[in-house]
Amino acid sequence: MALLCSALAACGPTPAPQIEVTGPTMGTYYAVKVVQPPAGLDAAALRAGVEQVLAAVIAEISTYESESELSRLNRNSSTDWVPVSANLYLVIAAGQRISALSGGAFDVTVGPLVNLWGFGPEERLDAIPAPEQVRAALERVGYGKLELRADPPALRKQRGDIYIDLSALGEGYGADRLAAYLDGVGATHYMAAIAGTMRVRGTNAKGQPWGIAVEQPTPGQQRVQRILPITDQAVSTSGDYRNFFEVDGQRFSHHIDPKTGAPVAQRLASTTVIHPAGADSAMMADGFATALLVLGEQRGPALAESQRIAAYFIIREEAGFREATSTAFERLRAP
Ligand code: ADP
Ligand code: MG
Repeated sequence: MALLCSALAACGPTPAPQIEVTGPTMGTYYAVKVVQPPAGLDAAALRAGVEQVLAAVIAEISTYESESELSRLNRNSSTDWVPVSANLYLVIAAGQRISALSGGAFDVTVGPLVNLWGFGPEERLDAIPAPEQVRAALERVGYGKLELRADPPALRKQRGDIYIDLSALGEGYGADRLAAYLDGVGATHYMAAIAGTMRVRGTNAKGQPWGIAVEQPTPGQQRVQRILPITDQAVSTSGDYRNFFEVDGQRFSHHIDPKTGAPVAQRLASTTVIHPAGADSAMMADGFATALLVLGEQRGPALAESQRIAAYFIIREEAGFREATSTAFERLRAP
């Protein structure tokens, strides 16, 4: 009997019914769980609904899809106003707000550098680009080189060769869209994740807050550093331990400092941001997690304090890891 209890993980009240779907998306994976699904929503219907949402998102904002709206915009070298869809406008405008707040550490025009360092849709190079290539790419970078107009939604490039990369917001935007779909079909308890970025509503099958695991930032391992209880919130983690290459023992990861044109080199290994529920909360958590990581060990926590962002940092030390948290994060944890 004891064995049966531990196998079921709990001997308390019977867990509520739950359906779950996972699959590949955006070069990573999605995972959606719905507890007490509304009538008519079974796993097959959920998968179809989720995949339709994700396909629509990719068709709007992916630089990996050559016919997406964003890829067509990137190929368009016009320096006049170009109309964009309301959705694409929403994501780029969020990026511009985070750029301004982070003093340009976050920048959606960083794409030429991302691609040059081999972290974009083209071939992975695993090599350091020549300084003149970095200089040439840097000339194309700067969020101030992009003007936005809300009504009707349009965008103007200061240079025809501006290239926009929304990868730092895409998982969050996708999770927000999944949450809108789930709300729309009447789900009230769910977790909708794209890799380390997710929207969470209600409680899990045991009637408790969802436990969101933050990984220990060690490449090639999947150890949990901390489990965060989350409900009616968005969470996103950015880290330097998954997508990187090494040359002579030095790590080059996929976060580029738009000021230097090179991957950020520092001890801040992982940043997790928790954002209150709202239509764009996962996108904001995603963007701020990236922004705080690019800002680094000193300036990242300082921005989290001044903007009252709930943030959790993992810093690499000689012997293991050190954690740091913002005041807003500690407030969430307080009973
Ligand atoms: P992940 O995709 O692993 O969740 P992030 O959300 O932090 O990680 O996004 C990282 C991606 O953001 C990079 O692969 C690159 O495409 C893009 N990027 C890199 N540096 C910056 C930056 N300074 N500002 C905005 N986007 C960036
Ligand atoms: Mg991000």
